[in-house]
Amino acid sequence: MSILLIPQAEHYDERTAILAPEGAFTYRQLLDASRRVASFLLDGASDLKEKPVVFLTPPGFDYVAMQWGIWRAGGIAVPLSLFHPRFELEYVLDDTSPAAAVVHPDLSNRLGRPAEERKLRLASSTEALAHPAGPVPAVATSRRAMILYTSGTTGKPKGVVTTHANIAAQITSLVEAWGWTGEDRILEILPLHHLHGIVNVMACALWVGAVCEIHPAFDARKVWDRIAGGGLTLFMAVPTIYVKLIDAWEKASPAERDQMSRGCRKMRLMVSGSAALPVPVLERWKQVSGHVLLERYGMTEIGMCLSNPLRGQRQPGRVGLPLPGVEVRLTDVGGAPVGAGTPGEITVRGKTVFLEYWNRAEETRKAFRDGWFLTGDIAVQESGIYRILGRSSVDIIKTGGYKVSALEIEETLLAHPDIKECAVVGVADSTWGERVVAALVMREGAGLDADALRAWSKERLASYKVPKDVLAFKELPRNAIGKVSKPDLKKIILRS
Ligand code: AMP
Repeated sequence: MSILLIPQAEHYDERTAILAPEGAFTYRQLLDASRRVASFLLDGASDLKEKPVVFLTPPGFDYVAMQWGIWRAGGIAVPLSLFHPRFELEYVLDDTSPAAAVVHPDLSNRLGRPAEERKLRLASSTEALAHPAGPVPAVATSRRAMILYTSGTTGKPKGVVTTHANIAAQITSLVEAWGWTGEDRILEILPLHHLHGIVNVMACALWVGAVCEIHPAFDARKVWDRIAGGGLTLFMAVPTIYVKLIDAWEKASPAERDQMSRGCRKMRLMVSGSAALPVPVLERWKQVSGHVLLERYGMTEIGMCLSNPLRGQRQPGRVGLPLPGVEVRLTDVGGAPVGAGTPGEITVRGKTVFLEYWNRAEETRKAFRDGWFLTGDIAVQESGIYRILGRSSVDIIKTGGYKVSALEIEETLLAHPDIKECAVVGVADSTWGERVVAALVMREGAGLDADALRAWSKERLASYKVPKDVLAFKELPRNAIGKVSKPDLKKIILRS
């Protein structure tokens, strides 16, 4: 058996692995439950042989049991997002053509029809967990383990495929760099269809025999109550969450604030990533919690890449140095490495780097140059330390830690009968990092009803992709060759 988390878990046996809305579960219970899920999925076969299995379960023990169960059956785990409307769920079903879909009974209405229409085996997670355990196959670490969907500069989201070896490399790099041990206890509040929550929080905790406490959804007040309760050692979140926590702290009474801050001070490490951490947020968080947030940089395709140090000085506005096992090179447009002080594209190599985009050989090929993955992010090295300058494309927006494609949103909006032209941009925002804004030119005679349009979009796009603002324009700013000039559009929006 080579799914490396499994032998680790055997070792931790009766220790608590997961604290979740459903209760407390030991590593032994997780091993047993995942074996039952695996046997259920195998349904008499000996190995799922890298067939994708999609699953939709709320954050909690069942989620982890499904993920491990799919792995143990030899399948590829494809977590579906709770935030995705039917349209986006169907996209993933069509793109992966899974062997089966597993859904928590509370969410069965979300997948029932789409699965039926595709003649897909649809199973309930409760049924899977109740199945008798049977033999499971040996799964080589080189095999595909997970597909996570991520937005790119072109059209629809792509499935990022990582192998068991990739995931193990991503975990061990962070365990070493951030000093994870079995004494740790982390709060998981991040979405579990994104790498940050899946690997940095959950998988790292389970690798070392720590406790992962899963909250069903982010709620600033509940997170503060838990932090104030004490006993946590680690916390990881995106900048938007820190902004919301600061806001809740400021609204609390002096006595409550004192308790909240004390809870933070008892932790050993607080980490921020998935989007740029504004220096004022870092500074305010230091006053609130006593912690200098450790900022790191990473990406679904490569896991974590650059990190400020666990010990030693963390530099505000900087993302530190390459993590263990990760090779980083900044290059110019021609692919030649650039020297210190010169901005270049971050390119990455190492065992943490993903295998391929699912069913997209051409896009996979284009994503690499001479074995180095091209991130599309621009950085500069100053005194050896990396600073992120931005992205090479204005069409990638980072909002609340989510990466979204302006082109995907534009494509969706253009399907609306009243919209003639549209351009979507990310506009700087103190809470969201970037706010998704849509500039629209309406068809003759059609008016813009922003609320109705947002409601229409919500049926087609994940909530975090729905434009926060929709603005009517007579015409969009265009450059000499007639292309919408997004930098000009952003300036106009900021001035308005
Ligand atoms: P995702 O694949 O959704 O995790 O998004 C990865 C992207 O998030 C990267 O390519 C960067 O553009 C951005 N990102 C992640 N961490 C940071 C950071 N610390 N500072 C700035 N941008 C970041």
